[in-house]
Amino acid sequence: MLETASATDRPYDLLIVGGGVNGAGIARDAVGRGASVLLVEQDDLASYTSSASTKLIHGGLRYLEYYEFRLVREALTERERLLKMAPHIMWLMRFVLPHSKLVRPAWMLRAGLFLYDHLASNMTLPKSRAIDFRTHSSGRPLKADYTKGFVYSDGWVQDSRLVVLNAMDAGERGADIRTRTRLVHAERVNGLWQATLEDRTTGTTQVVQARALVNAAGPWVARLLADTLKIPNSKSVRLVKGSHIIVPRVFDGPQAYIFQNPDKRIVFAIPYEQKFTLIGTTDIPWKDAPGRVGIAPDEITYLCESVNRYFKTQVKESDVVWSYAGLRPLYDDASANASAVTRDYVLDLDTQNGAPLLSIFGGKITTYRKLAEHALEKLAPVLPAVAGASWTANEVLPGGDMGEGGFDAALGRLRRAAPWLVPSLAWRLLRNYGSRAYEIIGEANSMKELGDVLGGDLTTREVDYLIDREWARTAEDVLWRRSKLGLHLNEAEKTKVADYVKQKTA
Ligand SMILES: Cc1cc2nc3c(=O)[nH]c(=O)nc-3n(C[C@H](O)[C@H](O)[C@H](O)COP(=O)(O)OP(=O)(O)OC[C@H]3O[C@@H](n4cnc5c(N)ncnc54)[C@H](O)[C@@H]3O)c2cc1C
Repeated sequence: MLETASATDRPYDLLIVGGGVNGAGIARDAVGRGASVLLVEQDDLASYTSSASTKLIHGGLRYLEYYEFRLVREALTERERLLKMAPHIMWLMRFVLPHSKLVRPAWMLRAGLFLYDHLASNMTLPKSRAIDFRTHSSGRPLKADYTKGFVYSDGWVQDSRLVVLNAMDAGERGADIRTRTRLVHAERVNGLWQATLEDRTTGTTQVVQARALVNAAGPWVARLLADTLKIPNSKSVRLVKGSHIIVPRVFDGPQAYIFQNPDKRIVFAIPYEQKFTLIGTTDIPWKDAPGRVGIAPDEITYLCESVNRYFKTQVKESDVVWSYAGLRPLYDDASANASAVTRDYVLDLDTQNGAPLLSIFGGKITTYRKLAEHALEKLAPVLPAVAGASWTANEVLPGGDMGEGGFDAALGRLRRAAPWLVPSLAWRLLRNYGSRAYEIIGEANSMKELGDVLGGDLTTREVDYLIDREWARTAEDVLWRRSKLGLHLNEAEKTKVADYVKQKTA
């Protein structure tokens, strides 16, 4: 069934294709400048790369080796900003870097960390320092061969929640956010984009108009140009697969580890979801079509070997409880090696043929906000609706206004306001929703009033919130992107969640 927007329907200022971090970030910034915005995402928000990252809000220590100073400086500045914008879903993490004689000399690590500490101005995170593993507690899980190393700071983020919060903020400011909606065709007609959208739930299509189009399709960026828009483009994207494994906790403490491999790559081991360790990543060139990707057995072996070189506790393939993989949509700079391809982004604006088209190549979770600012700066001369001043640098994301004293103080306040909340649930609600936890609790005065328990501490009231406010439509949305409860619930509980979501969204 084709539904065409009538001639009286006003065109949107901006049609954004892609509900990953870049599309959601641009939608938020643009609507805040007064533009009318439609964002379409073919699946769920953050279904692809933006939920498959290592989840670091980082400058990217290793990019210094590739002289990516612009990117590292911008990312370090953003790291500080983002940690303030969303203190519920992001936090400071200390990274322990053992020195291995076989890889990089100690002086090189020291010089790199010095640069990392000082490359951007006004950095407040604790600086790096040398540590002796024979006396420092972070040395306990390491093999005795490793006696010296360094510790430095970076940030950690619940990546898919970052995307959802940007979309939510955009939506609350008036953007039209449509998930499970695919752009299937678009052409320039009389100075406007005329775009056909397919609602993948109902199978219906609709034609809408927009003054400008943003191609934030991540791994699909080049295909969208060539196949959907039929626009030749000289820039291309290099898809590089990266995979992670999750195993039962290998070490205690809040610190993460960064290990150097003999192939000069680095692999992280990060405390994850209280009971687990997250290990990643790999860099595998990907030649096939974009889509859902999975980890290959040799990647699991590689990741196990990478951490087993350093940890006393040995990780086996059979320990893996979950894994995920994603495709980095990197700007193709013709590097020979997948690890060396630039992690910086390139914005390509096409105004030659009428209505503007902006395509985004590359980018990091960490730099999404700045990327959005640059994207709108680039569009502003041809799209006055986004010419307003940039505003996102100091505006918190939904739930980020947790009050004075940081997360711990906010948790104390929540526990006092709702003393009946199971402590682990109070913590989890605040970590995922920040001040919006109060909206979920609403008028409830007891655990019972939060509705039925579907599994663990997940209640129907929380799922209702995810459906009503965060576009959750399937159990997978709830268990793997709005949360990581999929790691904690058993199969019967997951089925209960699936049945409930189905019934609520029918
Ligand atoms: C293994 C790995 C580790 C990483 N680690 C980090 C890290 O620690 N820190 C960091 O800062 N960055 C990291 N990154 C990079 C970061 O994850 C990506 O740069 C970022 O998520 C890209 O976001 P995006 O919005 O461009 O793409 P995506 O998140 O892929 O979003 C694009 C969206 O467009 C949608 N789409 C495509 N075509 C259409 C269409 N026709 N209609 C509607 N929708 C469409 C897709 O469904 C998709 O959801 C990592 C990446 C990988 C793969």
